[in-house]
Amino acid sequence: MTTTELTGAEDVAWDLSDLYDGSDDPRLEEHIQEAEQAAAAFRDRFHGKVAELGAAELADAIAERERIEEVLTRVGYFAHLYFATDMADPPRGALVARITEKGATLDTQLLFFGLEIADLADDAADALLAGAELDRWRHWLTSLRKFRPYLLSEPEEKIVTEKTVSGVSAWGRLHEELLGALRVELDGEEISFEGAMSKLYSADGDVRRSASEAVTEALEPGLRTRTFIFNTILVDKWIDDRLRGYPTWISSRNLRNDTTDEAVQALVDAAVARYDVPQRYYTLKAKLLGVDRITFYDRFAPIGEDPSKVAWGEARDIVVGAYADFAQDAGDIVERFFTGSWIDAPVRHDKRTGAFCATTVPGVHPYVLMNFTGDRRSILTLAHELGHGLHGVLAQPLGLFNADTPLTTAETASVFGEALTFKRLLELEEDPQRRLNLLAGRIEDSIATVFRQIAMNRFEDVVHNERRDTGELAPERLEELWLDSQRRLFGDSVDIDGYGTWWSYIPHFLSTPGYVYAYAYGFLFALAIFRRYELEGESMVEPYFEVLRSGGSKPPEELARIVGLDLTDPSIWASGIDALAEELDEAEALAAEIGLG
Ligand SMILES: [Zn+2]
Repeated sequence: MTTTELTGAEDVAWDLSDLYDGSDDPRLEEHIQEAEQAAAAFRDRFHGKVAELGAAELADAIAERERIEEVLTRVGYFAHLYFATDMADPPRGALVARITEKGATLDTQLLFFGLEIADLADDAADALLAGAELDRWRHWLTSLRKFRPYLLSEPEEKIVTEKTVSGVSAWGRLHEELLGALRVELDGEEISFEGAMSKLYSADGDVRRSASEAVTEALEPGLRTRTFIFNTILVDKWIDDRLRGYPTWISSRNLRNDTTDEAVQALVDAAVARYDVPQRYYTLKAKLLGVDRITFYDRFAPIGEDPSKVAWGEARDIVVGAYADFAQDAGDIVERFFTGSWIDAPVRHDKRTGAFCATTVPGVHPYVLMNFTGDRRSILTLAHELGHGLHGVLAQPLGLFNADTPLTTAETASVFGEALTFKRLLELEEDPQRRLNLLAGRIEDSIATVFRQIAMNRFEDVVHNERRDTGELAPERLEELWLDSQRRLFGDSVDIDGYGTWWSYIPHFLSTPGYVYAYAYGFLFALAIFRRYELEGESMVEPYFEVLRSGGSKPPEELARIVGLDLTDPSIWASGIDALAEELDEAEALAAEIGLG
């Protein structure tokens, strides 16, 4: 099947009427107004008075705050989903912009509530939490109050929030625009940056090399400006951290991720200690590609020809089957995404690229967006997004605030579902070459999620600290630090000559400092649960469901305990990495078997 052939996904469109009947549904306008009025009433009633509330009153106030959030969130999801399938339609874009503005106004108006809760004296908060009235909000309140030592006064917080518009957000937007304007000259033609990057997946080594040279060239103009922006954002963050008294540059991120500096350091140490895994893999990859050593732009090269495509129906059967094998309930829930028109599957003009799952609001159900091309890989993407979907369906009854997971546990069900499906795919495949292809794809994804992110975290770490201690960093210095972090990751297994400026297109460094390690955290946590399931089988099903049903209502350590894991023990990370190393063992054995290793 070629890409122009049909996959069977062409007519698989989602039905958004479970949210609203359409963009002209009068309830849209009603709900926007309702949220605005309720927010104004909420502010009138509680501003400056949170400290006077009793436990039951506070519980009611939080419930009302959640309800207001739900009303606008429903509208927001509809706007975003409606826009995602046709981004060239101006009215759809306008609706998103309008809701985003409303949301920001509402946030500013209601900011006081969280601040006043955090501001409660410890003994007053303890007294409130002593009874059962606030049980439902215990974790939500405790997480919020963890920020207490780092909050400024309300007038100060207001100034900081308002000044971000002309400060860090403005710099961030300028950076995004500069990245968006990058143009790559390739073979006398101008192509988009993404277009050039996608050529790194080409089977032709010359195509990969010339694409990477063109990317390097495209990154050169404006590098000084982008470096200046990066420095400005670094110093802005440092000022913020200093004023608030955070002990390290990453502490605020860790707090938001519902974890601790120690737990994150243990994860980083565990991954850095096993850089031999990516190094071994890239050494194997060189053999598979028939070269002495791969260059950085060869990392995504396909290793075997596998032109076979899968139809939508087959992908559906494999994924639903994998979930149902694990537990019939899981299979049934995943099946509903197909029967209920909760998925928008085909590639279409002006549709958002990639894939995502939108959990929406309690009382509705999640929606999944795919760009299904029939590649073998997209089976795993489907499994991934449906994992999020399963998580959403199970956690939604908790309500918006308690269902919401931090980044660290948000990927639990998606990674788990991908692992289930990968196992099934491997079982179905007997041909050693194809098994090797499957394993290689899996190992590459894992390296990208675990080791690459941790190496990027090491780069961020040294950059933030050096900016604080020695002042502005020149482009040459950033290049040095970047290459240093990559050399540690790859050892001698990858030639990184020419890779020096490639730090400068990664948006996370500027838009969400400290973000990247969460990928590794979530992935290894989910893999650890999967390992236990493989060891213990059936008896792990119910505890796993309980983890998903708990959403974000408990801290990650507590969720881990439900499935018999100890997140404070650094060996949990090592065990996930061991699982990767075992897949690598198998890939090496297969390569030897077919005479490639
Ligand atoms: Zn995901």
